[in-house]
Amino acid sequence: MSTWNYYLFVRIWIGFAILLFPLLLRITAPYGRHSSRNWGPMISNRLGWIIMELPSLIVFVGFFILGPNSMNLPMLIFFLLYTAHYTNRSIIFPFRTRTSRKLMPLLIALFAIFFNLVNGFLNGYYFGTVSAGYSIEWLYDIRFILGSILFFSGMFINVRSDNSLLALRKSSGNGYSIPMGGMFRYVSCPNFFGEIVEWTGFAVMTWSPAALAFAVWTVVNLVPRALDHHRWYRNRFENYPGDRKALIPYIL
Ligand code: NDP
Repeated sequence: MSTWNYYLFVRIWIGFAILLFPLLLRITAPYGRHSSRNWGPMISNRLGWIIMELPSLIVFVGFFILGPNSMNLPMLIFFLLYTAHYTNRSIIFPFRTRTSRKLMPLLIALFAIFFNLVNGFLNGYYFGTVSAGYSIEWLYDIRFILGSILFFSGMFINVRSDNSLLALRKSSGNGYSIPMGGMFRYVSCPNFFGEIVEWTGFAVMTWSPAALAFAVWTVVNLVPRALDHHRWYRNRFENYPGDRKALIPYIL
């Protein structure tokens, strides 16, 4: 793929996300607590997570490593951060979930596979082939420093909040209870907030169009889901904390 075509593809991909956003605000994605049998054949929730997320890891690693660009310290850092996140998301996280006998529509998994294939390709191909590489001085660049702070803060919030949710299942079986403590004091979905901050940080620290596209898609995926979760909590639990927002403390 020529560089020109690559950048055109990224622009179209970002434009598609922005166009899709108003639609996703009206549709409740039918997985997890919103799972529904109205979306065709169902597959195991755990298997769904693995096959949804693994393509992003495999495609990213393949295009990164097989590209002509050479690996140096900044590139190695980007490689490790992305692969650490996706190793957790595609292999570790699904086995930690307590979702025995839960199902998700196959269609959701197929949509997510497509999204993850494109995302993994755009990022892996950018680092491996399209980018002009990153010099060692990039590690002292303000974008790298600020982006790293955002990335690690977001990752910390995401993993910690996911851990709290997974721990709730120890007491509530396959059901749901009101999460408390940490950032749950302020929002219903701190795990989504952390994920958005994390990928925004990755976009800033790499200053790359591919990571920007992924950050935009993360917002487009997770803002509607956070609003759906928040509404669901408020309907489900009479004693749900009234001052808790959906996603962004004090704001949304
Ligand atoms: P959820 O917050 O819906 O669920 C996370 C896990 O905790 C699930 O196993 C869920 O079970 C369980 N859980 C959630 N709330 C409760 C509760 N109140 N009581 C007991 N158990 C609970 O997150 P998602 O499943 O949507 O996403 C998982 C991760 O993937 C998140 O970190 C998210 O940021 C990330 N993600 C990233 C996307 C992106 O575009 N970058 C897109 C989607 C997700 P169950 O599944 O049974 O509801």
